[in-house]
Amino acid sequence: MSSSSARKIFVGGNWKCNPSTKAAVSTLCETLNGAPAFPGNCQVVVCPTALHLGTVQDKLKRGDIELGVQNVWKDAKAGAWTGELTCDLVKDFGAKWVVLGHSERRHTVSHESSALIGEKVATTLAAGLSVIACVGEQLADRKAGTTMDIVVEQLAPIVAATPAEAWSDRMVIAYEPVWAIGTGVVATPEQAQETHANIRAWLRGKIGDKADQARIIYGGSVTAANCSDLIKREDIDGFLVGGASLKPEFINIVSSATLKAKM
Ligand code: PEP
Repeated sequence: MSSSSARKIFVGGNWKCNPSTKAAVSTLCETLNGAPAFPGNCQVVVCPTALHLGTVQDKLKRGDIELGVQNVWKDAKAGAWTGELTCDLVKDFGAKWVVLGHSERRHTVSHESSALIGEKVATTLAAGLSVIACVGEQLADRKAGTTMDIVVEQLAPIVAATPAEAWSDRMVIAYEPVWAIGTGVVATPEQAQETHANIRAWLRGKIGDKADQARIIYGGSVTAANCSDLIKREDIDGFLVGGASLKPEFINIVSSATLKAKM
């Protein structure tokens, strides 16, 4: 049994390539500015496009939202990496978090391997940045009963690249079943809890008691309507939110952290 109360809830917003205009990004920031103070037990991070970081820094007027980017290259320093972002750039622009291994990068956009993602994790943590590392099975894997085989293959290089000190605060694992991302089909609380508990048990075999500090968040069609049932589960430590992070309901999803505090 893990001690979920010892872990700070984490809610990330992955804006992907949305919205398309600076004006719409500003409107989204104003919505967030208008939200009441977030629960004290919840860390909130939003990841706009890299092009919009400056706009968000200008418009977001609250100290309780940290900023992240959606990818970096595996080399931290300036160089001939056309179209990429380096950790040095990310740090210079004042973002703190990096999403790595998102399914859209593993499967859809750039077919990144688990080994490459492990290299990126190592570079990013060594640069002093923090990581949201995504793992998750496709529908065929779940149907075949191989969810944990897939997740372990993805997790192994991430864990190998993560120093012990990072587990309490700078490394967040996002379990995102691919069949739930952007589909409107959310994992049931039972499905999500089962996989989160399996991930934590596997982590315990690799990193010992640090597994109790590791935050394992769920992503895949999280909305204001389904977050309450998910957050109450022992091993669900927050959310990575795509579509709903572009809407006012993101604020309600963050507020669901209070339900964990009451447990
Ligand atoms: C995501 O992109 O990480 C995600 C979980 O998207 P959505 O919430 O839209 O399913």
